[in-house]
Amino acid sequence: MKKIFGVAASSGIAIGKAWVFAQDAPEAPCYAIEAAAVDGERRRFEAAAEAVGLKLRARLAASEQEGNGEEADILKMRLLMVEDVDLKERVLSGLQKELKNVECVLCAVAGEMAERLLAVEDAYLRERAADISDVAAELTNALLGTGGSPLEKLDEEVIVVARDMLPSDALAMDKRMVKALATDSGSRTSHTAILMRSFEIPAVLGLSNATALIRDGDVLIVNGDSGRVIVNPDAAELEGHRRAIDENERVKAEDRALSSLAARTADGERIALCANIELPEDAGKALSHGAEGVGLFRTEFLFMSAGGAADEEMQVNAYRALVRGMGAKPVRIRTCDMGGDKMLPALSLKEEKNPLLGWRAIRVSLAMPELFKVQLRAILRAAAGGNAEIMFPLVSGVEELDAALATLSEARAECRQKGQAVPDDVKVGVMIEVPSAALIADILAEKVDFFSIGTNDLIQYALAVDRGNEKVNYLARPTHPAILRLIKMTVDAAHRAGKKAAMCGELAGVPLYTPLLLGLGLDELSMAPAAIPRVKRVVRACKSADCRALAARALKCGSGQEVAALLDIFTAQAGVGGSS
Ligand code: PEP
Ligand code: MG
Repeated sequence: MKKIFGVAASSGIAIGKAWVFAQDAPEAPCYAIEAAAVDGERRRFEAAAEAVGLKLRARLAASEQEGNGEEADILKMRLLMVEDVDLKERVLSGLQKELKNVECVLCAVAGEMAERLLAVEDAYLRERAADISDVAAELTNALLGTGGSPLEKLDEEVIVVARDMLPSDALAMDKRMVKALATDSGSRTSHTAILMRSFEIPAVLGLSNATALIRDGDVLIVNGDSGRVIVNPDAAELEGHRRAIDENERVKAEDRALSSLAARTADGERIALCANIELPEDAGKALSHGAEGVGLFRTEFLFMSAGGAADEEMQVNAYRALVRGMGAKPVRIRTCDMGGDKMLPALSLKEEKNPLLGWRAIRVSLAMPELFKVQLRAILRAAAGGNAEIMFPLVSGVEELDAALATLSEARAECRQKGQAVPDDVKVGVMIEVPSAALIADILAEKVDFFSIGTNDLIQYALAVDRGNEKVNYLARPTHPAILRLIKMTVDAAHRAGKKAAMCGELAGVPLYTPLLLGLGLDELSMAPAAIPRVKRVVRACKSADCRALAARALKCGSGQEVAALLDIFTAQAGVGGSS
């Protein structure tokens, strides 16, 4: 028996068999298929070719804009290869003849083509062999991203053990088969952690050496509350954790009973508790946990699940389904926050040295106004039949907000030109997640209907702590006086302008901080659906006057540690049972 410790990233306990995700294996999977599956594999190839084509076109446009002729020539060549009828025909006939999956057939076809090129005299043509291999690799990646990942094909319940897990991997995995996740790297506010909480699958991340210590088939206990993983546990550990699982089930049943009660403090102050969701089908989950609306819909996962840029109709359908699913409750749709740790091949996000400080979120949207308008038109059209709101991520200055608002006006005018009914009064807000935005919150507040504070990024940027890096995770203190001041500044600026201040960062869903956030004056807290009952329990046990006094004292503290100590004392004295 071995015990390893990491970051408690998604609550719950699971006992099961380890399945180690072999991320070093780059080869295409190869397996036999039935004749009836050929057509499906053909469609997968066509979709992958389209996605890669889109990506290459976007990269080509960027190279031409930058005047990089050499790169543009290579990209044109690759585009020709991706769209080459000969390649497509060879793959299709290979599928029929070999009855193998398309990645396998593509690998063989590309290998043959490259070999033939390598045998010719002409040096230029010989060099094209490398292009064929690169194109085949891009197509294979696109295929794996749209249906080829082994995480999608798990045939028994397992605990996934991985070195690292990208949000796209988490999205691809078969959730019914994954009992828990344990990874070497990652932290609580990484997007993979956020997804695992949304799926309600226990996770411990940042274990450093899980993949070195754990073998396929080992029995594991993953405790997503304590951040502990036990490898091949003894009988006593198994027994203790089975009892804890039963106790968790009992608490969940109690939580469900809370869902119909109002989020009101003991002295009658209301706060809205909303849900953060990543997929439109999660509306039911949000409602069953008692959400009063969707405070954050992270639309980028919609694009990632679609394997490329989702077209307007697809987006309209998704947003409408969500808005209808939530009834009359507000649904705050955040425009695409791609980049950072969320990559989308179709958008051609190049690898960057500092992706979190790079081309991300609103910056990408503003650089691709046509794609941005597709999303804005889709949201506006969905808002015609329900209560949808728009929120812009990672705004760092007023110019970006002005540009986004101007693009929104254009999108609205385009809808009207096409005779589509779109409302005038869709609420528009900005996320406050860059310190510069908090510092000019008074200026931004004049231009929007609401703020939503994204503490995951706000903490990352204010304290210079990569939110996905477990080595510096200890510095990401929400109680740091700088963070409290930035939150207070944002809330006050909103209120002075008569606007609402919400919080949708992970901090909003941690019961330990609920009294402090109430005291800082937030009007809404938005969190993973499963966190709502626990936060509501704390809200109902608190008095707003005590929370305000707590916040006033916290704002005078000189260090995060002092604030943390204050919170512990408050929790113990008020008996509100907040836990982190
Ligand atoms: C945040 O930064 O706090 C936030 C809610 O956005 P995301 O986690 O998607 O970056
Ligand atoms: Mg963010």
